[in-house]
Amino acid sequence: MSEGKDDVPQWHPDTLAVRASLPRTPYGEHSEALFLSSSFIQSDARSAAARFAGDEDGFIYSRFSNPTVGMFEQRLAALEGTEVALATSSGMGAITLLMLGLLQAGDHVVCSRSVFGATLKLLGDTFGRFGVQTSFVSQTDVSEWRAALRPGRTRLLFAETPSNPLIEVCDIAALAGLAHDCGALLVVDNCFCSPALQRPAAFGADLVMHSGTKFLDGQGRVLAGALCGSRELVEGRLLPVQRSAGISLSPFNAWVVLKGLETLGLRMRAQGASALELAQWLQSQPGVARVHYPGLDSHPQHALAMRQQSGQGGAVLSFEVAADGPEQARERAFALIDSTRLCSITANFGDTRTTITHPASTSHGRLSAEQRAAAGIGQGLIRVGVGLEHVEDIRRDLARGLPGSN
Ligand SMILES: *Cc1c(COP(=O)(O)O)cnc(C)c1O
Repeated sequence: MSEGKDDVPQWHPDTLAVRASLPRTPYGEHSEALFLSSSFIQSDARSAAARFAGDEDGFIYSRFSNPTVGMFEQRLAALEGTEVALATSSGMGAITLLMLGLLQAGDHVVCSRSVFGATLKLLGDTFGRFGVQTSFVSQTDVSEWRAALRPGRTRLLFAETPSNPLIEVCDIAALAGLAHDCGALLVVDNCFCSPALQRPAAFGADLVMHSGTKFLDGQGRVLAGALCGSRELVEGRLLPVQRSAGISLSPFNAWVVLKGLETLGLRMRAQGASALELAQWLQSQPGVARVHYPGLDSHPQHALAMRQQSGQGGAVLSFEVAADGPEQARERAFALIDSTRLCSITANFGDTRTTITHPASTSHGRLSAEQRAAAGIGQGLIRVGVGLEHVEDIRRDLARGLPGSN
């Protein structure tokens, strides 16, 4: 890592985010090069054979590895504090690879029921068809996770913290303890905080999963994903499956996300500061029934969040509009969303542009009413991914649709 110099000091993550990389090419490019090449030339047949056998390092084919993708992997691993990282085509691609690489029919997974909608579908439905059973439990109640364990069969605990869209926090160290006592692995989806705020491996997580589509890129441009962990797990068990399954990241997307990482710390701190200010303001508005943001004292896991997330709440918040019953709640939530002029109505978050969504009818719209109710996602809930615009402009934009606010 680190531009090919030998004496790598213990740099701060902000420095690693800018400097951690593979060695430069002989051209001496200052910014990392984009290697758009599907395959790589081998110097001779003997060396080709050695590389294919894994006896010699070197690039072969971009489904396996690529220098630009490698730079992204090195930099992300440095930020997460894990031995290695493996890039994937998207965040969901990372979860698919995880399941394909680590599980087989008859195995059991314990997962929070508050995880990302597509994660619920993938684990509950798709992998269920292949004989992998998943128990869905409370995001915050560790005793439910413990009760769901099936010794000898539970291989994986899957957590996402904070969760989407209720921003509930789970205790990574407690779940790691449970997993390890039972011979299972803990995987943490770290999309919401990114390594700038939270490093799950430091709390005992065996694998850290990312959607690079969110804060890592940070500018809403490309899909990307990654799994970070020990060399043994990532290169020993996941990489061989990725080589044949082809859930690989394109070099172009890797290059975009690599450059995004350079400003990650700055963006997370700035967007998080605005999110806290907006959460505090929303909490005092008559048209708002409840605000979900871990940086607020009123958040049920505030103390845990501050411990686990470098004292910060992150850049995503959600709130419930005040209403009588679900129909009025949906009407008011839609009216607020439609009255904004600045916020973008779009499913993404982790962008420099502030985004606003109605989870019950979009990201979680494919769930059954029962699944939605179990996940606590009501019709009055609005999620805001706070961007880099001036906070006063965002505040005024939200106030447009809140009766009694300005
Ligand atoms: C977006 C997201 C994913 C999926 O990532 P993609 O890159 O869209 O596949 C997974 N988990 C969380 C928490 C997300 O926000």
